[in-house]
Amino acid sequence: MTDWMNYRTVARRGKAAYEGNLDARLVRVGAVEFGGPTPVVIAGPCAVESRAQTLAIARAVKAAGADCLRGGAYKPRTSPYAFQGLGEEGLRILADAREDTGLPVVTEVMDPRLVPLVAKYADVLQIGSRSMQNFPLLVEVGRVRKPVLLKRGMCANLEEWLCAAEYIALGGNEDVILCERGVRSTWSQEYARNTLDLNVIVPMRQRTILPIIADPSHSTGDSEMVPWAARAAVAAGAQGLIIEVIDEDTRTEDVLCDGFQSIRPSVLRRIVEEVKGAAVHSA
Ligand code: PEP
Ligand code: MN
Repeated sequence: MTDWMNYRTVARRGKAAYEGNLDARLVRVGAVEFGGPTPVVIAGPCAVESRAQTLAIARAVKAAGADCLRGGAYKPRTSPYAFQGLGEEGLRILADAREDTGLPVVTEVMDPRLVPLVAKYADVLQIGSRSMQNFPLLVEVGRVRKPVLLKRGMCANLEEWLCAAEYIALGGNEDVILCERGVRSTWSQEYARNTLDLNVIVPMRQRTILPIIADPSHSTGDSEMVPWAARAAVAAGAQGLIIEVIDEDTRTEDVLCDGFQSIRPSVLRRIVEEVKGAAVHSA
């Protein structure tokens, strides 16, 4: 049994307007609304690798109908020898991509000391799976007045995830968007990077008023599985998607981070049309 008092600020229980339904409290990012009737699509590269790469992908995902741009300037990498991100230069590139496309920017912050810097550039602060229980970081983003995308820890249960959201909300920042990104299971790495836990979406919506989206990229780790997982997540109640994308003419093996799971803009366009139930009209 989970105790809703442990996450009382974000709980559905005790909030008259939300009891007896599965409505979310809307989280607004400019003109984009998370938790409304239309799924929101965040798309972009895993990592900001260069200005040219990021601008090209930003334009392509905008044309494909995405609502927000993603891209990491600070990357949580298993090996300290792997590409760690461009840091502040990456944040500047993301801000330029926003200027160019009008898309709000979602980017990860890992270090509590860097929250003010990342918040200066980002429209949404992403807390990665590995940081879900970094409590000082949660407290720090709770002080910021910008929405937070809180990814589920890869082994986190429902109450741990909701309590992490509560840490942020308790600081006065109730604009938290949850993201299911796959959990570790017996089959992780055998045929999928993680196991996309579709089951968790409705129970989360029952327990919290926060909107919840899904990440079909990190949960599958396979670009061919992404469109299927994306459709399945929305069918299972996800109110949006965050998807990794590479340019049409970039070779997968040339990408510094997660190329194998990144889809092309043409595939993104089909997903957007399917989940939003409308054709994408672009210039
Ligand atoms: C990401 O979205 O860039 C990422 C690193 O994902 P996760 O924290 O879910 O592994
Ligand atoms: Mn990635």
